[in-house]
Amino acid sequence: MANPTIEALRERVHGSVVTADDAAYEEARAVYNAMIDRRPRVVVRCADVDDVRAGVNFARESGLDLAIRGGSHSVPGFGTWDDAVVIDLSGMRQVRVDPQAHTAWADGGATWGDFNDATHAFGLATTGGIISTTGVAGLTLGGGIGYLARGLGLSCDNLIAADVVTADGGLVRASEKEHDDLFWALRGGGGNFGVVTALEFRLSPVKDVYGGPMFFELDRAGDVLRFFREYIVDAPEQLGGFPAFQIAPPLPFIPENRQGEPFALIVACWAGPLEQGEQALRPFHDVAPVVAEHVGPMPYPALNSAFDGLVPPGLQHYWKANFNTELTDAAIDAHLQHAPGLPAVNSTVHLYPINGACHRVASDATAFAYRDANFATVIAGMWPDPAANDASIRWVRDYYEATAPHSEEGGYVNFMAGDDQGRIRANYRGNYDRLVEIKRRYDPDNLFHVNQNIAP
Ligand SMILES: Cc1cc2nc3c(=O)[nH]c(=O)nc-3n(C[C@H](O)[C@H](O)[C@H](O)COP(=O)(O)OP(=O)(O)OC[C@H]3O[C@@H](n4cnc5c(N)ncnc54)[C@H](O)[C@@H]3O)c2cc1C
Repeated sequence: MANPTIEALRERVHGSVVTADDAAYEEARAVYNAMIDRRPRVVVRCADVDDVRAGVNFARESGLDLAIRGGSHSVPGFGTWDDAVVIDLSGMRQVRVDPQAHTAWADGGATWGDFNDATHAFGLATTGGIISTTGVAGLTLGGGIGYLARGLGLSCDNLIAADVVTADGGLVRASEKEHDDLFWALRGGGGNFGVVTALEFRLSPVKDVYGGPMFFELDRAGDVLRFFREYIVDAPEQLGGFPAFQIAPPLPFIPENRQGEPFALIVACWAGPLEQGEQALRPFHDVAPVVAEHVGPMPYPALNSAFDGLVPPGLQHYWKANFNTELTDAAIDAHLQHAPGLPAVNSTVHLYPINGACHRVASDATAFAYRDANFATVIAGMWPDPAANDASIRWVRDYYEATAPHSEEGGYVNFMAGDDQGRIRANYRGNYDRLVEIKRRYDPDNLFHVNQNIAP
């Protein structure tokens, strides 16, 4: 692309346009996963919707690849791409709450931290992720799994409308009333259909919650998982959280001589009346002795950011994902075999329960198809040292290979690795063909292909 055209883009854009000639380039090309080392042609740091349209038009007209970045958390690093135009929305992150209507609009680059701070002020929340630095749009467009999902549904189930810049540079609103086909596809279909510049959510009254992590001896992990899978079937829907495997970090509530050892955890979030919190978590204490815990009442945004310190930007990431309709004994055995090998304190394995309100949405009502799955499992390899890449990636792959035969064919798109493109059809099951149809309508040339791609 000749410089004059980039110059024209610079003049057009209200934010900034960064190329390899600019001092800001190194920072602008980097994403959260430090394993990703790509050199885009141009990064458009958007200030407004106009900038997004300018970036989309520029990519299309110049024939360059286009990548979208919000919170930058894509593990395969879809937020940056060689020789591409990157639409960076991280400068667009306002959240406006309507406390009467119990709704909020979030800009396309807002993080869950931005969102929760704004809604918490009114005692309201919706389902978001478990880390506050994850992008609202990226997480919601893939489905959105978090502490509140059993009670409130997935994040995408709480989406009311979205403003979308489409491949032709147009701006449309998608909702049940307008562009309902696009609205259906956005709820699980990821960044395949356009750049979402704003999202409207339904909010629910959630202010303070009772929760936090409980650490159990690894040799009791089987009991913990078997108890959890039974208990969570009929547990009150205000109870969220998940079983996990985690190396104990050096925190004051963990005995010093146990820090650095792998444990089984339950991370709980009781979003019902606070005075019932202790009782709601009691069954977990009865399963096995709790070695260490940090549970109690706290503002919901505090739980949503409690693990941020374990996953700072700049780690190496490689993840794999599964859905489990049944968490069988054989699946649990595979976890017990591989979890002790967690490569670093940053790595973790989470088994998110996605029953309750998530099950009350029909499989074909949104693009997110696995409405009968009880667990979304992520094997989240995260470690600081690039020298450990081969061994740590091997750990994730071996773990995944061991659990895959006891899991569904598909997994949650937002937890998938870059080498999982072959599983796209399986991730969407019966919804895949309709997604392809809608892709053909809104993006026939596959401008938005730097993602878990639904090819037209
Ligand atoms: C530390 C960590 C914790 C996580 N925790 C959770 C969790 O609790 N629950 C959960 O469900 N997921 C979780 N995830 C996965 C997360 O949902 C995905 O990585 C998601 O894609 C991140 O969105 P982002 O905006 O931060 O990332 P980005 O890298 O900026 O975007 C990822 C992709 O999402 C799409 N996208 C992002 N913004 C837009 C937009 N405005 N318009 C159109 N497309 C867009 C694009 O395809 C883009 O390539 C976590 C990831 C990490 C790294």
